[in-house]
Amino acid sequence: CGIFAYLNYHVPRTRGEILEILLKGLRRLEYRGYDSAGVGIDGGNGKEWESNAKSIQLIKQRGKVKALDEEIHKQEDIDLDVEFDVHLGIAHTRWATHGVPSPVNSHPHRSDKSNEFVVIHNGIITNYKDLRKFLESKGYEFESETDTETIAKLVKYMYDNRESDDISFTTLVERVTQQLEGAFALVFKSVRYPGEAVGTRRGSPLLIGVRSDHKLSTDHIPVLYRSSVTEDKKSCSALPRTDQDTCLFPVDEKAVEYYFASDASAVIEHTNRVIFLEDDDVAAVMDGRLSIHRIKRRAGDYPARAIQTLQ
Ligand code: GLU
Repeated sequence: CGIFAYLNYHVPRTRGEILEILLKGLRRLEYRGYDSAGVGIDGGNGKEWESNAKSIQLIKQRGKVKALDEEIHKQEDIDLDVEFDVHLGIAHTRWATHGVPSPVNSHPHRSDKSNEFVVIHNGIITNYKDLRKFLESKGYEFESETDTETIAKLVKYMYDNRESDDISFTTLVERVTQQLEGAFALVFKSVRYPGEAVGTRRGSPLLIGVRSDHKLSTDHIPVLYRSSVTEDKKSCSALPRTDQDTCLFPVDEKAVEYYFASDASAVIEHTNRVIFLEDDDVAAVMDGRLSIHRIKRRAGDYPARAIQTLQ
């Protein structure tokens, strides 16, 4: 029932600090009601964030955020002092709609036992039974009773069936959303795309908070309509001119922090600069830059996503 994600880009944070930010975000969303909570963070205890980002650790618990907090501190293999220059952490409070409240049904959900792709979800996927049947017929093994797990498997399916190795995370997620019916706000994380976040929504709320000491390159992000999802863009700087304009940061190596949340109350203590996503927006942070695309064209509806300043 609540989504919170935090991405630091060239803002060094220890794993302990990152977990604290995630848990605090969840506590701010507690009023929405929930029965379980979970987080997904990078594993590893090395010095380099890139190598740590090659594994993902999930910690999930039934009950209150306090119970999750206790569970995190019980983990013996978590070194809270490891520092990350770049990191994406995702966190979730669940109000069960499909499957009882339990650790395995809690979010984040995963593509496979190695946690290659993980996802948090608010809402309900109404066609999940058909999707699950299809994915099971392709050999994907499910562990939970949730509708959400189909999304985690579906993004892996899209990745496993990619036509080229440099396919972007955004493209995979756009393909996934085209298969989904129902209501959702989603944030994805993957060991295949270290330091990248992709969020999208349809019917459930999702916003992005931005914090940076640097002046933002633009206060309006034109949202481009994509007629197909086959095109692949590696980074904003490599984009053709018109696409480049969708990026919030056309600069390199600048420190910036992003927060994804279902509710502004969870980000307001960090920043008052937020962008509210609209239905079918797919927002991606890659190389510290935020870009927003949408797949479905609606007549006369392409407003730029303005950065709003919350009072
Ligand atoms: N339908 C999903 C589940 O039952 C998400 C529920 C939510 O929004 O918390 O896990």
